Amino acid sequence: MAQIRIENLRKDFGDFTAVQSSSFTIEDGEFFMLLGPSGCGKTTTLRMMAGLELPTSGEIYIDGEEVGTRRASQRDIAFVFQMFALYPHMNVRRNIAYPLRSQGVSRAETKRRVEEIARLLGIEDILDTPVGGLSGGDRQRVGLGRAIVREPKAFFMDEPLGALDAEFREHMAEELRALHDRMGATTVYVTHDQLEAMQMGDKIVVMNHGVVEQFGVPQDLYDWPATLFVAGFLGSPPMNVLRFDGAVAQGAEVLDLAGAAIAVPAAREGARGALALGVRPEHVHLEAEAGYRAQVLATEYLGTTQIVTLRTAQGEVKARIPSDIHVREGETTGLRFDARNVTLFDVASGRALRSAGNEKVLAHG
Ligand code: ATP
Repeated sequence: MAQIRIENLRKDFGDFTAVQSSSFTIEDGEFFMLLGPSGCGKTTTLRMMAGLELPTSGEIYIDGEEVGTRRASQRDIAFVFQMFALYPHMNVRRNIAYPLRSQGVSRAETKRRVEEIARLLGIEDILDTPVGGLSGGDRQRVGLGRAIVREPKAFFMDEPLGALDAEFREHMAEELRALHDRMGATTVYVTHDQLEAMQMGDKIVVMNHGVVEQFGVPQDLYDWPATLFVAGFLGSPPMNVLRFDGAVAQGAEVLDLAGAAIAVPAAREGARGALALGVRPEHVHLEAEAGYRAQVLATEYLGTTQIVTLRTAQGEVKARIPSDIHVREGETTGLRFDARNVTLFDVASGRALRSAGNEKVLAHG
């Protein structure tokens, strides 16, 4: 069990900065997701926390103790690289027991712990089976068993489900999360898949180009993105972003979107003109009479809902509406946004502006 805190963590590879001044705290027992596109610095951050990469600067604390210069083996964490990395000539029992043998744990204690973990993972009946002939799912479970058996303070996982097909991946994601809930061990999990992060994580940190964009609970990130990057990265389809170049006078208090008055936060700290309005597709409503006009470009049927793509003066907008509303491609309609559910961004900095609804952004930004 461990709390992990990183402060101003940075990693340079020569002239290239892979991680820039990152700070966040992972609370004891959390399932914590490091999320971002390929190359954003997730793996490098995890490897520094694990002791596999030396930080250029900054600190890493595990349970309040600074561990930045300690070797991986002294940090008492289990790094689950690839769950398939098993010893094929050994049976399940010996694969799981392997880390204990190298620690000199007694035979009786090893047997007890291996059997307890096999019960936890639901693989008691295959303990004496060679791993060579096991199904993919059972191999994953054995790999996990081997990581768990040492009873480390925390688990680090780098895209552990990346190689699996979609259906199996979803099943293993649920199993991993359930296992975490039974054990309560701090888990740090790297993924580029926003759905996986939102489905599994207690908290998410979103990274981009080595920078922490935002961290917090999934719903806060989804509802109140702190930056345009987070707005565009989370959600499928992502948040609509409508730019109002020069349309909002400096000092204006209300953005009048054809009848929908959207309050512009008085504290437009640093805002230098152009604003962007972010609105999730589920908060865009088609209303024939609404003043903000749009033309239907396409519809995509998804069962109970449909995604309607519309052209507006500010570019394309996607709306998620019930499928029983009939929409014709080419027709012109009006759009209404829920003013309570929009986020305003300062385009120049890419950051969300404070308003009555989205003060949470600043708490996690
Ligand atoms: P991915 O999911 O693709 O692995 P990531 O977010 O985990 O992406 P990192 O692996 O942390 O990204 O890499 C961040 C950046 O640092 C990348 O541009 C990568 O090329 C670079 N990088 C990583 N390790 C090294 C290294 N040892 N030497 C030089 N550059 C490196």
